[in-house]
Amino acid sequence: ETVVSLDGVRKEYDLGGTVTALDGVTLDFEPGSYSAVMGPSGSGKSTLLNLVGALDTPTDGDVVVAGRNIPTLSESERVALRGTRIGFIFQTFNLMPRLTAEENVALPLLFAEWERSRRRERARSLLDDVGLGDRIDHLPQELSGGQRQRVAIARALASDPDLILADEPTGNVDTETGEGIMRLLEDANDRGNAIILVTHERRIAEHADRIIHITDGVVEGIESIEQTTPEP
Ligand code: ADP
Ligand code: ADP
Repeated sequence: ETVVSLDGVRKEYDLGGTVTALDGVTLDFEPGSYSAVMGPSGSGKSTLLNLVGALDTPTDGDVVVAGRNIPTLSESERVALRGTRIGFIFQTFNLMPRLTAEENVALPLLFAEWERSRRRERARSLLDDVGLGDRIDHLPQELSGGQRQRVAIARALASDPDLILADEPTGNVDTETGEGIMRLLEDANDRGNAIILVTHERRIAEHADRIIHITDGVVEGIESIEQTTPEP
């Protein structure tokens, strides 16, 4: 089953005048696929991510996520879908400021109704994986930018979602941290999570299997990326 499919999607915003942010977008994202989205500022990349992440509804057309057509769902059904099937890595991280790293990572598992001790175990193991095993009790404000980004990634992976959405995940971190983040995404993809990554950096986009180029709300082209096997 396709993880996300968009069919003839149009998205308009009405703020005095009408802005058409996406127009006639038809795309399929298969299980385990890795797609990057590139395009100039204002081309509709964030709008696309908000639609596939069930954060917003299209003006026209279908957005089907994990077999559910987003426009037909209630707000609470969309919240449940997001909590269990989709992992978000957005630039602002959206970590809860009063929760520790461990509690932030465990949050999606609360939605998924995991029992407390299993939530704790899973959150600790994920924080270990991202190199923050010694920071589990830190609040976000006690962590560096790169560390917060890694907490956000651990949280996105917590419920083993069908789909991981990443908006400029390496945007605010140094090169080394950025490479670590890209490795974590690759590991997740190897385990079968589909990934959609928005970036303006070609070098980052080339980690994906294909690059979707968007201009003025229209898909201009889809470029396949040949992945070479790294030297052992
Ligand atoms: P990108 O992520 O590629 O920079 P966006 O999806 O954010 O592009 O924006 C696409 C277009 O939609 C832009 O013209 C932008 O100004 C407009 N837009 C985006 N979000 C809103 C909003 N909430 N209200 C009104 N216009 C918006
Ligand atoms: P990163 O490359 O991960 O963003 P930084 O250079 O920002 O790392 O931070 C280096 C170290 O300083 C980190 O290991 C972190 O523990 C510590 N640090 C950074 N910012 C803060 C902060 N606001 N409060 C406490 N420790 C911090």
